[in-house]
Amino acid sequence: MNAVSEILSLRDCLPSRYAIICDTTVRGLYGQKLQQNLTSKGLDVKLFSFPSGEQYKTRQTKESIENELFENGFGRDTCIIALGGGVVLDMAGFIAATFCRGVPLVMVPTTLLAMVDASIGGKTGVNTPYGKNLVGSFYEAEKIIQDTSFLQTLPKDEIQNGIVEMIKHGLIRDSEYFDFLETHVQELMGLDLNSIEKAIHDSVQIKTAIVKADTKENGIRRIINFGHTIGHAIEKISDYQISHGRAVAIGIVAESYLSIKKAHLQKNSYERIKNIFQSYEIPFKIPVDITLSALKDAMVSDKKSLKGTPRFVLISEIGKPMVFNNTYCTSVDIHEIEEMYHALHKH
Ligand code: ADP
Ligand code: ZN
Repeated sequence: MNAVSEILSLRDCLPSRYAIICDTTVRGLYGQKLQQNLTSKGLDVKLFSFPSGEQYKTRQTKESIENELFENGFGRDTCIIALGGGVVLDMAGFIAATFCRGVPLVMVPTTLLAMVDASIGGKTGVNTPYGKNLVGSFYEAEKIIQDTSFLQTLPKDEIQNGIVEMIKHGLIRDSEYFDFLETHVQELMGLDLNSIEKAIHDSVQIKTAIVKADTKENGIRRIINFGHTIGHAIEKISDYQISHGRAVAIGIVAESYLSIKKAHLQKNSYERIKNIFQSYEIPFKIPVDITLSALKDAMVSDKKSLKGTPRFVLISEIGKPMVFNNTYCTSVDIHEIEEMYHALHKH
């Protein structure tokens, strides 16, 4: 674990007590080892965990971990080490944001998706019965430690979930990166070290640059939502049985289809987009049991839709988001959504 030496190198600038927060799966795989390693190097480290799964990303879990921290004597001199996937980073990040009014946070993502997505941009939070991620805050980590050795134990479908957001990064910002993902399928799925490290590095750069460039006036951060208007709708209709990555893959292909008419995306680029998902064996068709009316309803009730009209980020080319009247999103006529649905619905 490179993560050990990186954490040790921070010891002079961070407080003296460390709380590793992870889920029960990561605890068994890496949490205990990391704690032992750091303890043997003289650090004061305790390990806290909660059950794995999005359904535990709640205010109740946050409260019970905070209570445990207090019971173990943690106070203002705490440094929180968030070790895990997106769920853990969101939860531990939110705890760090509010514990004693905010303590330093070190993020150690252990999934590909978390390395290229959740760890960047400073969003933290929990779900509520009223919706996902409705309570939270923006809170920047002092340090994000990228250690690809964690990926060795990650199931294939979790690797694919990360690949989906990486493809999205290519589509919205960088056609050369898209080419790289297109031509290194075996290497990336096989976790070839050079390829995976380059791909993670480039994805992190792309997302970081977009988040940094965002100001209220240009709202460029919205382009990160490419594929997500339809993706979120599909996640919701499936009652979250379809994972975020899988839903966004469908959303990316669907919103690329919409881009043909509304943003002049070339047909052959659209074919390349479908093909890349095929190469990574990531399904992109709208599942049979998702009806057109359910899709429309779910998009209208999305928190990012404007006055009940769903808004879409579209691309004019691979690597280029379309600008509409100074914004990066647009509404789309209902008959175009219908046409897209019929073209992509599995039957
Ligand atoms: P993400 O949103 O990044 O996909 P989650 O936090 O939902 O991440 O994690 C997905 C699942 O993978 C969880 O059950 C988690 O415990 C597990 N997990 C996280 N990291 C690893 C890893 N390195 N190896 C195996 N399983 C992991
Ligand atoms: Zn996403």
